[in-house]
This record gives sequence, structure tokens and C-alpha cells, in this order.
Amino acid sequence: MTDCIFCRIAEGVLPSKKVYEDDRMLAFWDLNPKCPVHVLLIPKAHVDSLAAVGEGHTADIAHIFAKLPAIADSLGLGGQFRVVSNCGESAGQTVKHLHFHLLGGREMGLDLG
Ligand code: AMP
Ligand code: ZN
Repeated sequence: MTDCIFCRIAEGVLPSKKVYEDDRMLAFWDLNPKCPVHVLLIPKAHVDSLAAVGEGHTADIAHIFAKLPAIADSLGLGGQFRVVSNCGESAGQTVKHLHFHLLGGREMGLDLG
């Protein structure tokens, strides 16, 4: 069994508060939200991070971004949101399965600390 927690969430072995799911991706609430809306978008197929992305991942990633506007709408974001992907430990990546943070519901500056 994989020890990747997001693979286990995608497999349904670990619980999550799901927002959207299909055969290729899952969107679920972050356990430690930084904004009123803080949802993680992941491909079900494991990829370590954006640094490991190649041609074989383009369909999954395009799919996530194709679904993003409707997911943001379903969360009441009204076209006002931020998408972040931390890549590597020094950029703040703590879970080594590619994910996009969908953040919204409050004013945001550009404090990168
Ligand atoms: P990052 O630090 O960019 O790798 O983001 C990982 C995110 O995953 C953090 O915001 C965590 O709060 C979140 N997280 C970790 N474990 C879980 C979990 N089991 N369910 C939901 N969110 C999680
Ligand atoms: Zn994984």
C-alpha cells in the first residue's frame, strides 16, 4: 500500500471532506484552512510535484483546470480566488503529491513569508 496520504485519500482509504470527484481528480477541504474557502485539487494519479510534471501528466492537469471554475462557483467564490501549488520543501510543500490550493473568501495580499 502507498504511504502517500493524498493517494490514500484519492483511493478512499483515508477520509476527506469531498467537494468534487471524478475518475481523474478529487477536490476536498484542507484540514487546516488558511482562508474561509481552502480546498485542495489533486490528480488521482500520483505525481510528486510540479517539478515532476511531464507530457504524460498534461491531460490530468488540464482536466483539473477545466473543472476549477465550476468548483469555485460551487463554493460561492464568484470568480474571486487564488490557486497555489507549493513545489519543494523550501517553497512550503509538505505533502509530496501534486496539489493545487484553491483559496478564497477573504482579501489576500502577496505576503510570501
Ligand atoms: P502543502 O503544504 O502545499 O504541501 O499543502 C498540503 C496541505 O495539505 C496543507 O494545507 C495541509 O493542511 C493539508 N493536509 C494535510 N493532510 C491532510 C488531510 N488528511 N486532509 C486534508 N488536508 C490535509
Ligand atoms: Zn500520491
